[in-house]
Amino acid sequence: MAECIICREEKTSFSDEHVIPDALGGYYHIYSVCTQCNSDLGSFVDSKLVNHSFSEFQRYLLGLKGKSKKLPNPFSGTHQMEGDENSKVQLRLNEDGKPTPYKIPSVTYAENSDKNGSITVSVTLDATDEHEFDGILKKISKKLQVPIEELQKAEKSFVSIHQPSIHLKLSIDLKEFKIGLLKIAYEFAVDSLPEYFADESSREIAKILKNAEYDAAESHVNIGSGFEHELFASMSDYLDLDSKRHFLVLTSSISEGLLCFVHLHGMFSVGVTLSHKSYPSELMVFGVNDIDRKIFRKVYPEQLLSEIYAPPELRFQYYFSNEREMKEFLMLQEGEGFSFHAEDGTPSLFDRAGNRLEYDLYQKMKQMEMVVISEPLESGGLAHTFPIDGEVYIKIMPSEKLVRIVAVSEEFQQVAKL
Ligand SMILES: [Zn+2]
Repeated sequence: MAECIICREEKTSFSDEHVIPDALGGYYHIYSVCTQCNSDLGSFVDSKLVNHSFSEFQRYLLGLKGKSKKLPNPFSGTHQMEGDENSKVQLRLNEDGKPTPYKIPSVTYAENSDKNGSITVSVTLDATDEHEFDGILKKISKKLQVPIEELQKAEKSFVSIHQPSIHLKLSIDLKEFKIGLLKIAYEFAVDSLPEYFADESSREIAKILKNAEYDAAESHVNIGSGFEHELFASMSDYLDLDSKRHFLVLTSSISEGLLCFVHLHGMFSVGVTLSHKSYPSELMVFGVNDIDRKIFRKVYPEQLLSEIYAPPELRFQYYFSNEREMKEFLMLQEGEGFSFHAEDGTPSLFDRAGNRLEYDLYQKMKQMEMVVISEPLESGGLAHTFPIDGEVYIKIMPSEKLVRIVAVSEEFQQVAKL
């Protein structure tokens, strides 16, 4: 027995719950939703996302087949051919998934006013339906009580239309799909931040999801309309928003409470307010759903830094009391085997007389943490500059000359994005 995170009842039967729906290329699984809730979420919550016209377009573009193993047809419905308001066409997907116009058969009857009691019948068929023609004639002959032979004498003409212009009517759901985004944010938060489960807002959201309350869901999915990808602009330095990945970002702030940003590539970008309670301000969890590699993984800030930046390089700012000292240093720097005296890779520090100080460079930097200046590097990375107070020297090898430093920068070159 365990508690289901949706109905919050003790249950024995649990299912494989896709946090991001399977049909949208989701690879994030949790096992804390009971079988009944899993099935209800699929029917009333996930379906609103999966069948949204934006999702259908994206699934179509990415070739993501749904449960039925069929590619969604984002052009489904009946449309009009340009310049012919009476024609009804559909755009069907052929075997290669290419939309192909299909003319819906139409039969019209028009009474002729000049000829007494006569009627003009016109039949329009798609070329692929030619074999249906005789069947349709039979129906007409029955309806008009005219021998079929008379009808067969009529003229037949074939018109094929190349590159037809077709008017599409799309209806876009601006509201109900939001419950699907709320579910993703809620499940990600409960799975990543266990104490959130007991939060009052968390109970309220579970109830909204269980009862599929579309109106109530909207009040939580309240940052952006759902289609504003600019919401993620500030994260574009470390999230690869051009890739087909989906991103979830769980974060907390004192003023806003607990938030989850959801970015489903090519479909939706939104911010969800999960709670007004404040959680630790350093809280940050990234969820990366990689459609190409078919994996979902969580990334925490420290890991983010080590993944997207190369190991830091140190750069010193020196103090020279005259030009001669500076020239001498520059010559040594050009010389063979130039390095700094270091132990286990950490540069040692000395006083003016050449005595080792009891602290090394990293300990000194730690002392100066409060006054560090962080700036972006032109090359796309990040530099943290630590001013060095007091008279501190490092030793140049192999000459063993001392050179005074006034600041040290730790430079992180960005090498990747999530
Ligand atoms: Zn349940």
